[in-house]
Amino acid sequence: MQLEATELTEAEMALQMEVREYLQQRLPAGTYEVGLGMAANNDVEFSKDLGAKGWLGMALPKEYGGGGRTAVERLIVVEELLAVGAPIGFHWVGDRQSGPSIAKHGTEEQKQAFLPGIASGELGFAIGMSEPDSGSDLASLRSRAEKIDGGWRINGTKIWTSGAYQATTILGLFRTSEHKHEGLTQFIIDRNVEGLTISPIPFIDGTRHFCELSFEDVFIPDERRLGEVGGGWAQNTGELVLERGGVDRWMSLMPILEWWAASDAVKNSPGAQADLGAIAARSWAFRGMNLAVARMVDDGKSPVTEAALIKEMATRFEQESLDTVARHYGRAPDLNSDDPHESLLARAILVSPSWSIRGGTNEILRTVIAKGLGK
Ligand SMILES: Cc1cc2nc3c(=O)[nH]c(=O)nc-3n(C[C@H](O)[C@H](O)[C@H](O)COP(=O)(O)OP(=O)(O)OC[C@H]3O[C@@H](n4cnc5c(N)ncnc54)[C@H](O)[C@@H]3O)c2cc1C
Repeated sequence: MQLEATELTEAEMALQMEVREYLQQRLPAGTYEVGLGMAANNDVEFSKDLGAKGWLGMALPKEYGGGGRTAVERLIVVEELLAVGAPIGFHWVGDRQSGPSIAKHGTEEQKQAFLPGIASGELGFAIGMSEPDSGSDLASLRSRAEKIDGGWRINGTKIWTSGAYQATTILGLFRTSEHKHEGLTQFIIDRNVEGLTISPIPFIDGTRHFCELSFEDVFIPDERRLGEVGGGWAQNTGELVLERGGVDRWMSLMPILEWWAASDAVKNSPGAQADLGAIAARSWAFRGMNLAVARMVDDGKSPVTEAALIKEMATRFEQESLDTVARHYGRAPDLNSDDPHESLLARAILVSPSWSIRGGTNEILRTVIAKGLGK
């Protein structure tokens, strides 16, 4: 475990101001539906506008339309987007993990085919890992890709695939042999491919981002296999570092916290002020940890244990902060309230249990951390 304290440079702080000012103009309060972190609304036009600003695919290579910038610079942009609950749903997965994974493991043809679209906000990705009987024990997955002439035939079911309904592309993990870990391979799959049925599963708050994917004799050409046959497990583990170590793990609640901090309920209550102080101090600590992880990524390291540690601690922090705000609110907030903040608070209460499940449950992360610390 090696988290070293670090601060933003002047150039990085200038980028932060630029993004902040842009968002004030592009997303004035009241003109968009504020979201809860990465599970926010999809707005393809907004994603494209961010792409045009050079704020998607920032760390992807320039020759494929990316920004050739650092993980810290991406963190700065993402942090500002999450702070205002921006509609980032469409580009989120591609920008965070599928893009970097294709840049690392893809063929020349795959990089040319997908990276420019990720950087411009035109391609939206979803992650097809989990299956009805394979969540935590992902390596037990059974959906199969069978080698046939010119490609692969895929059969099976994926579940809990966030954003698949609106995505253009699925990056899926499939069994290509009986070896538990070495028998898994990733494929880049067009959302409209014949034989793939995508069915939304209504989430507890009424949204329909969550999907079940049914593959029936789906043909995938070999050119859409990502990386080596049998290399999928290691590739997927690398993606999970990107999925777990980011600021998205403790910023879902930011728009609610900002609203609450400025409310009379806090101004008039020393108890609420003390609670707000504790939340602010913990947020600042998580921010320092995330920044340290981003610097490690920029140094070419793969901070698996550090990312798991942040996710375990930060998602608990999000849930505890929500409990605090809800307690001070004093009554059950109404999901259908005319007050968008009350409605958002009600939504957060409904969906917050999922924060410590998606991307790996806390029980599993504790095992990852324990093993990592023992090394
Ligand atoms: C909001 C949300 C979005 C998601 N998005 C995606 C997505 O886009 N793509 C995708 O592929 N998946 C996605 N998932 C699925 C998610 O990754 C799985 O739900 C998660 O990995 C847990 O798997 P499971 O649901 O099968 O639970 P299980 O593995 O059945 O676990 C049930 C409980 O048992 C515990 N448990 C299991 N094994 C152990 C063990 N060995 N030791 C101790 N405790 C254990 C777990 O911690 C958990 O508390 C999403 C889930 C949610 C909630």
